[in-house]
Amino acid sequence: MALNTKPLLEGKNVFLTGGSRGIGKASVLELAKNGANIAFTYVSSEAGAKDTEAQIKEINPNAKVCYYKLDVKNSAQVNEVAQKAIADMGHIDVVVNNAGILRDGLIYNMTDEQWDEVIRTHLYGTFYVCRAFLDEFIANGFGKFVNISSICYVGSAGQANYSAAKAGIIGFSKALAKEYGMKNIYCNVIVPGYFKTELTDANASQMIVDEFVRLSMLQREGKREELGKSVVFLASELSDFVNGDVLYVTGGLDTIPPKNAKRNKKAAN
Ligand code: NDP
Repeated sequence: MALNTKPLLEGKNVFLTGGSRGIGKASVLELAKNGANIAFTYVSSEAGAKDTEAQIKEINPNAKVCYYKLDVKNSAQVNEVAQKAIADMGHIDVVVNNAGILRDGLIYNMTDEQWDEVIRTHLYGTFYVCRAFLDEFIANGFGKFVNISSICYVGSAGQANYSAAKAGIIGFSKALAKEYGMKNIYCNVIVPGYFKTELTDANASQMIVDEFVRLSMLQREGKREELGKSVVFLASELSDFVNGDVLYVTGGLDTIPPKNAKRNKKAAN
């Protein structure tokens, strides 16, 4: 037995959606700290993507970094970007489905557009991206999918679209693990609790944030890099006997604040 000195993800190539900010950005930085080469996507924040690239290079000047504009709702675009990333990086070992949005509203008032956009981004997007990399993983005889769900999968008032999509991601991921586990292909899910990002800043009032903290066992918000470390775990050999499983990274949260912990005006339609 010797000490582990090799970085956990040395020589591994990771593809992640939504790396221009928030949890996605923190995750690629943690992956890079552990030796991974990174291909990531953005959809609107090109400046954010450039900054992510620069920060990865600061961490590891030798890391290979590529980024692409991608709307995960567009299946043809997903296939095209996946092929490009495989060609640019040489091969892909790990795929992280992180891209996400919120379009909150009570069910009675929810428009078709609000419903469609959220389901298409999270659930269709995760399906499109996983499908696009399956051939690559099968050909390589190995691959790890890490799909980001949310504690809201348990049912969040005012977020029926998001709750349905995030619950769907869990069922989808378990099905993928059952179909391809015997080919050494992994598909695990992370269920994050509350992390301060642009997404939550725009959609959660301080009262809701305080409730998340109060209900958690650690009595605090999560730090984005802590979520990133859980992505590293599921991307690396540390999780080689974990498949079709769900990792809660919530600070000990098994429920979410009820609707009567008043939401901000923007979300309270
Ligand atoms: P942010 O809003 O900070 O970042 C969202 C990312 O997704 C951005 O990189 C954005 O790209 C990208 N994105 C949005 N729409 C699309 C699309 N159609 N196609 C491709 N990329 C897209 O969100 P967070 O970092 O907070 O959330 C990241 C993930 O974590 C989401 O899946 C979210 O549901 C989940 N999550 C977050 C929690 C939290 O507390 N923050 C809690 C539970 C789950 P661009 O910047 O170019 O617009």
